[in-house]
Amino acid sequence: MLAFLGGGDYNTRVMKIKNEKFPNPKEIEKELGEFLTKKFGGSVKLATPIAMAQMESSDTVETPVQRTEAIDFTLKPEELIAYLDQYLIKQDTAKAVLATKICTHFNRIRYRQSLDVEIGDMVGSIKNNILMLGPTGVGKTYMVRLIAHKIGVPFVKGDATKFSETGYVGGDVEDLVRDLVREADGDIERAQYGIIYIDEIDKIASSHNLVGADVSRTGVQRALLKPMEETEVDLKVPHDPISMLQEIERFRKTGERDGSCINTKNILFIMSGAFSGLEEIIEKRLTSKTIGFGAPLKNADEKTRILSQVKSEDLVQYGFETEFVGRLPVRAVFDRLAEADLYTILKNPNNPIILGKKLDFAAYGIDIKFQDKALEMMACSAFNENTGARGLVSAVEGALLEFEKRLPSTPIKRFAVTAELLNDPRQWMEKLESAPNDPQHESRFEGIKQCEIEAIADHIRSSKHLLTDKFGLPFTEDRIKLAAGYYSSHSVDIEGTLSRLADLYRQTKTIEMEFLKNNGLNIILEDETIDFIIGQWLEHPVDVDAVYRQLSSDLLLGLKLVHEKAGLNRFFITRQAIDNPEAFIAQLLQTKDIDT
Ligand code: ADP
Repeated sequence: MLAFLGGGDYNTRVMKIKNEKFPNPKEIEKELGEFLTKKFGGSVKLATPIAMAQMESSDTVETPVQRTEAIDFTLKPEELIAYLDQYLIKQDTAKAVLATKICTHFNRIRYRQSLDVEIGDMVGSIKNNILMLGPTGVGKTYMVRLIAHKIGVPFVKGDATKFSETGYVGGDVEDLVRDLVREADGDIERAQYGIIYIDEIDKIASSHNLVGADVSRTGVQRALLKPMEETEVDLKVPHDPISMLQEIERFRKTGERDGSCINTKNILFIMSGAFSGLEEIIEKRLTSKTIGFGAPLKNADEKTRILSQVKSEDLVQYGFETEFVGRLPVRAVFDRLAEADLYTILKNPNNPIILGKKLDFAAYGIDIKFQDKALEMMACSAFNENTGARGLVSAVEGALLEFEKRLPSTPIKRFAVTAELLNDPRQWMEKLESAPNDPQHESRFEGIKQCEIEAIADHIRSSKHLLTDKFGLPFTEDRIKLAAGYYSSHSVDIEGTLSRLADLYRQTKTIEMEFLKNNGLNIILEDETIDFIIGQWLEHPVDVDAVYRQLSSDLLLGLKLVHEKAGLNRFFITRQAIDNPEAFIAQLLQTKDIDT
């Protein structure tokens, strides 16, 4: 998008944009002409005058009122925290703050909508916009993204360094609001409950030394005030030629103009930044009131501890306008990540970096496994980059590039990443190429795979009850092993693995109903039987009808016989019934104390 209107005073321009809901065709032609000349240097021109439908007086333009649909939101803070815990390492305080305030924000909207009276209008609606403080790469964006995904609301991210008081290249915060509509596939209702995340907000704090820059930074803060609270944003981009052309075309065809707007009342604004130097301001305030002198700041934990005592006055002193700070009443301080945390991130079975790498290699038919020691080495090199967990991507990429380049041309299909390999990748690659069938490669791979399966099983076991509630199936020991095995041989996260398992579980349970419906016989598949069927299914995907037919062909006649002879019509199908149906039926016929 391009900043189409020239410079000039910001407020005048905003007024101009707001008032010119639909500019005069001559002006549009002129502006488009100027734009094309600017962009293509006179080699491209508007061929014909733009055909316009009869214009109405702009006074008569009506903006359609957006009807707010009731939102369906019942998530509770602790449920959201439990979800975040599956993906995010550390950051417990920030998780608690964000999960609580975001849940309350959406629950409050739902509650307000369920009431007949608009209490927001009566008592005034204070929005819980959030300010996140913390260094780069500690999970700020990741957390907001995960929350937006879990809640199912559109999410857009912008960067405050791109703003200028007159709008950044092509626009301003209103563009982010329009992007929300795009994220919501054009659904304005959904976009009205979206989340706008603006990073590097500390860069628009005014600095007392930079006079010129100061004025514009303060201007940017002021420009953000209204959208952060409530304003109507025109969905057309007033200064974007493409959008103008589309609008002209639409008007020419229909004679109607698009007056759609989006209201920002329910849009949650989350801002973040590293705020370097803020600790000193806070420290100064704290020490002058207590001990009277400032001890030098020592380590990361100390800095986080001080940062977590931030008050509005510190932010004002840092260079923010009081009104701006007032619109960010909720604050969340993020911890710095230690080297051990980076290792834990890589070890987390839901980590997108390792899963992504598994996918990259799987695309060449190669199964890749990581030894713990190798993960530690990559965490160490990432930590030295001093960019938090962001360094992990480059550390993993850098370590594996040689192998990603050369392995696809070899017959090797199982690849173990070990500490020795990372110490000397080239030499190791040559070793692999010269002896691709060396049984040591295979045994190394198998050893790491078994460790991975055990670690995944432990991971599932540790949150068994939570997962049982979430996926609606009991996690028996066999089922945990099945899930761990499936995870280890596919490039899916835990959520994907357990969803697959839960889906197969539900499908297996439908067999019981089908049996009753078709044959009048009540069968109950024992847990071990279900797990056996699911295990087979994971290995050789077939549809549920095929499993049903197999079961019927093995057992139906026998069960009918038992039903006729003993009058039974309720049968517990054990694993033996699958392995050896004849023996199972024979045993049933002999048993006298079957539950009737
Ligand atoms: P920032 O704090 O700068 O917004 P990000 O959230 O973009 O950092 O983090 C970059 C990536 O690092 C994320 O996509 C995620 O993969 C990983 N990451 C960062 N922090 C954590 C964390 N606390 N737990 C797990 N992964 C993390």
